[in-house]
Amino acid sequence: MLKNRKRTKIVATLGPACSTKEIIKKMIEAGVNVFRVNFSHADYEDVKEKIKIIRDINKRLNFHVAILADLQGPKLRVGVMGEKVKLKEGDTFTFTTKKCEGTSEEAYMTYQNFPKDVKVGEHILVDDGKLLFEVTATDRDTKVTTKVLRGGKLKSKKGVNLPNTKISLPALTEKDIEDALFAIKMEVDWIALSFVRTPEDLIELNTLIKENSPYKIPVIAKIEKPEAVANINKLTAYCDALMVARGDLGVEVPMEQVPLIQKRLVLKAKKANIPVIIATQMMETMIDNQVPTRAEVNDVANSIMDGADAVMLSGETSVGEFPIAVIKQMRRIIENVENSPLISIPDEYVQCVNERFISKTICHQAALMATSINAEVITTLTDSGYTAFHISSWRPTSNILVFSSNRRILAMLNLLWGVKGIYYDKFVSTDQTIKDINTIANQRGYLNEGDFAINITSMPVKERGMANTLRITQFKKD
Ligand code: PGA
Ligand code: MN
Repeated sequence: MLKNRKRTKIVATLGPACSTKEIIKKMIEAGVNVFRVNFSHADYEDVKEKIKIIRDINKRLNFHVAILADLQGPKLRVGVMGEKVKLKEGDTFTFTTKKCEGTSEEAYMTYQNFPKDVKVGEHILVDDGKLLFEVTATDRDTKVTTKVLRGGKLKSKKGVNLPNTKISLPALTEKDIEDALFAIKMEVDWIALSFVRTPEDLIELNTLIKENSPYKIPVIAKIEKPEAVANINKLTAYCDALMVARGDLGVEVPMEQVPLIQKRLVLKAKKANIPVIIATQMMETMIDNQVPTRAEVNDVANSIMDGADAVMLSGETSVGEFPIAVIKQMRRIIENVENSPLISIPDEYVQCVNERFISKTICHQAALMATSINAEVITTLTDSGYTAFHISSWRPTSNILVFSSNRRILAMLNLLWGVKGIYYDKFVSTDQTIKDINTIANQRGYLNEGDFAINITSMPVKERGMANTLRITQFKKD
């Protein structure tokens, strides 16, 4: 019988609420697999310190918790506003690209090309869509005149969304490049890019990584623009994971469209054999409440049933009052639903005879076989992590034990559904390696006498080539 282990992964955002070693350690023990650094609000010295704490815990307690650097991307904002600015429906309001303190008539807009890029009739949303404006005129130089469609308080530095405007800003701003270089220096395990629009945006980030990092750092495309949703078929080939970034997505498209977009994006990720993270407001009320709402519990559960590989917490862990309790609660929801037969799993195998064809087929068959013979574990030895992505994407009912002599790869793989990384650095012969691996699986409590193990290897082992061999073992202790 498969032991009850959480297989859906939890991504938690770092912030002032998880600033001590003790809290971070408790969060990891409660079930955090990946910590996200949100570069919209990051201080380098602070990030350095947090990463050191997490890596020390990894080393000391044999975890492989990953670090995800989340780049802000071309996020637009208003400038500093004067006290108590409140706008009414029907008011005329101007956005200017000249720096000024905002009033009830005008506000500074950080995006310098705005008057040139925007068209009359387009919408401007501010503060997560709380305020809504319609463009009535632009001087194509410094000023955009609007009518207030939905009023309210307009506070300093609030985010601006322009869902229909073709924004001419680069995918990677100067700040993003600086942040990415810092993240590369910190040897982070994943880099996410916000407001991705086209494959070129992802190529730009991949190139920056290639030119500056000695090894590949996988990239997450945050899907939060209608353009990205429209381009999704093209995007999956240029990233290593998707994030359904429901916060901005729900402002950029009417929020009632987000549930079906979430389902479509999960399906697209499955078809591309890449993991998908569902993000934002999953347990929002736990920012200042000890218990979530029933709707939130349902949202986490339904996201898992859609087929999410990971679920993410933002304010809940970065600024919330209960960063440990929220992880525990999320874990309980995950454990209660993730073994349900109602969960969507991929059933389509796209045959494509390329250089990875053999390993891909081996991984797919291993997953099918593991489920049909009720194997306790699938094991794989990897230098690149490739097989782990593929086995995980097929959602076998068995545990996925990934052995690697590269701790960085083990941390990176910690985002993947069902993957448990184990450090292993002996490569002798196939016979001995499989024996070793199954013994370790037994010692760690994943495999008992009489259980089936499916071992994926590459023969000959010494060459450390691509996976090409599948073996079934019925475990016997020596
Ligand atoms: P953010 O991204 O928290 O970096 O804005 C997630 C989202 O928009 O949902
Ligand atoms: Mn966002």
